[in-house]
Amino acid sequence: MSGKVTTERMAADDAGIRQAVRLLQAGRLVGLPTETVYGLAARADDERAVQGIYRAKGRPGFNPLIVHVAGLKEAERLAAFSDRASELAQTFWPGPLTLVLPRRKEANIAPSVTAGLPTIALRMPAHPVMRCVLEQSGLPLAAPSANTSGLVSPTCAEHVLRFLDGRIDAVLDAGPSEQGLESTIIAVRPDGSVEELRPGPIDPAAFKEKLRRATGAGSVSTTFVEAPGQLASHYAPGKPLRLNAHARREGEFFITFGTGGGDCDLSPAGSLTEAGARLYACLHTAALSEKPRIAVAPLPEEGIGRALNDRLRRAAR
Ligand code: AMP
Ligand code: MG
Repeated sequence: MSGKVTTERMAADDAGIRQAVRLLQAGRLVGLPTETVYGLAARADDERAVQGIYRAKGRPGFNPLIVHVAGLKEAERLAAFSDRASELAQTFWPGPLTLVLPRRKEANIAPSVTAGLPTIALRMPAHPVMRCVLEQSGLPLAAPSANTSGLVSPTCAEHVLRFLDGRIDAVLDAGPSEQGLESTIIAVRPDGSVEELRPGPIDPAAFKEKLRRATGAGSVSTTFVEAPGQLASHYAPGKPLRLNAHARREGEFFITFGTGGGDCDLSPAGSLTEAGARLYACLHTAALSEKPRIAVAPLPEEGIGRALNDRLRRAAR
């Protein structure tokens, strides 16, 4: 996308979905709702369209994109699925699991999507609007989070416009994202080993248990390594962020967890799932407040708490 464009905000009804599909087929950029966060989508088979994503986000070219597909059949055209990968897809798709797999040489995918890697990251999302767009367009869609690279991810259409108004063609508004955290990324290697590259909404304990049952393996070794795009500083709210804060200091916007007494609470009921859904909205509110600094109360390092703490640590750098 070059120069300034008018960004159309469309309701996620039949007409809005049809218009999003038309734009995407024509190689344009559209913000789309998913159950994790809002994505900035372009057709993944069109190098010019994909370059537009990197430009609009100011994203470094070495950070590859996740390709969203309508189903397992579509995914199998793009990557080689081992038995274990197929079982994982059958168990967790549609849903917030991205699989990094060996890319098929003949896959019709723009080179910059995979940033030169021999692998490709694939996900079948569960959001009904995103699924309609994928099915009606008949295209694989590259879709990173619809924000400026390195800043807080968007969980509603307003957040998308805050970053990308005038830089993308449209955003499809389907209300707030349900999960609110980016997908769990798992690499399945040709030797069958499994690595978690990014913690996400799937509770790791549940994941390991399902993985054990899905694959019938006696034990599952998950090693934790960084995906190329997992930069140390990410999700930044643009203000100093203090972690593990037990009380507010002067000038701080205080985000609490289950205790109240701050400027906003991630989950009054103390639910980590709710905290996941609300984290980015609270960080956006904090970023827009008049307070010059942000403090966040401690969150337990268990279940999705791992993903929340991962995002907060990067936001604080
Ligand atoms: P985002 O789209 O902003 O949620 O970021 C996508 C994440 O997926 C980045 O951290 C990438 O590094 C990671 N990713 C995408 N493709 C691959 C791949 N082929 N291998 C490893 N990580 C990947
Ligand atoms: Mg992102």
